[in-house]
Amino acid sequence: MARVLFINGGSEGHINPTIGVVQELISRGEEVVYFSIEAFRERMEKTGASVRTFDDQKFIKAFISGGRDYLLERINGLLLTADIVIPSVLEKIKGEHFDYIIHDSMFGCGRILAQILKLPAINSCTSFAQTKESFDKMLEQFSIKVPKEIVKPINDKFQSLTLMIQEKYGVEIHSPYEVFCNPAPLTIVYTTREFQPYGETFDQTYKFVGPSISSRLTQENFDFAAIKGKDSIYISLGTVFNQTIDFYKLCFEALGNTDHTIVMSIGNKAQTSDLGEIPKNFIVNNYVPQTDVLQYTKLFITHGGMNSTHEGLYYGVPLIVIPQSADQPIIAGQVASIGAGIKLQLHSLTANQLREAVDHVLTLRSIKKAVANIKESFRKSGGYDQAVDDIFDYKIQNHISI
Ligand code: UDP
Repeated sequence: MARVLFINGGSEGHINPTIGVVQELISRGEEVVYFSIEAFRERMEKTGASVRTFDDQKFIKAFISGGRDYLLERINGLLLTADIVIPSVLEKIKGEHFDYIIHDSMFGCGRILAQILKLPAINSCTSFAQTKESFDKMLEQFSIKVPKEIVKPINDKFQSLTLMIQEKYGVEIHSPYEVFCNPAPLTIVYTTREFQPYGETFDQTYKFVGPSISSRLTQENFDFAAIKGKDSIYISLGTVFNQTIDFYKLCFEALGNTDHTIVMSIGNKAQTSDLGEIPKNFIVNNYVPQTDVLQYTKLFITHGGMNSTHEGLYYGVPLIVIPQSADQPIIAGQVASIGAGIKLQLHSLTANQLREAVDHVLTLRSIKKAVANIKESFRKSGGYDQAVDDIFDYKIQNHISI
């Protein structure tokens, strides 16, 4: 048995794929100490992990204070979270021994903590993986396309934050890539090599284990009787970029009072009372047990978050992807390119267009076939079970106590 330090941030999309991994690690005898924010305590404690938390408000404030317009600003935001996460983690594990660390690919300063604690590290990548080359190319665009007077202060800030963290914690940070992607000797990616863009460019330190989907272990209030046997349409724009009242109203206009039963999750930032009259064929909630709802769904209208996309396809549901931000346009592109759904633009979307897209996706046989194929490849890929096999192989290679 080994002791595992698991470092994560505070966002649903980065937490959910780790639930199965942590449960499986514990069932194979590992002891897991899991860092996140208070909101996920119950969910993660049910896995059997010992959960410890850092201050979510300070964490979010620090992250956002880096700026949100450009990638390098978000990287600065991540560096700004170091002073919230690192002292808190170090204080809460004082005097304890760990055999290895598993850290999120983005949040929680995992690569820095691994250096401070001198622990063998594993990267838990809940989005598509990136090589340094592809990441640097993306970052280069920022210097090319954005005016110098904007780029310079953001770059200067990156340099000064990096220097401060290096000196304060005695660690090395060589590039923005290290801050954003937290590379490690082993990276678990929760998709398949086939679905990952340029999958063939990743070496064997990247293990593509496929979607890691497991029961959330917490009970959500949802009336399944209302959708059982109905083959509903499910709409959700995820848990982050979901304050889109106009879009929800457009869904009413496009699909209200039709024969379809529609479940719509609007997130915690909008209220059902903001939406005006709700058509009778709509069930609108702030949050639904998505992986369960998808099992009664014939079509998923999604923002193309990594998890939502994988969960939909894992349950064989065709997708209409309406991406907004972050990695969503790339994910939407992948879905469209394998033919498992179609991509629409939010800013120009009309009710007519959405209605037609729904009819199109529900009737096209080629989409059904593509969805069946990807579902099968996702089911075969192994998910959290394969992830833990790979983690155990890594333990053997690194002589970590079994
Ligand atoms: N989710 C859920 N119920 C909801 C909305 C979202 O269970 O009503 C879950 C969903 O199953 C997924 C995660 O929240 O696992 C959202 O992650 P994703 O990567 O799709 O998008 P993000 O929220 O990070 O934009």
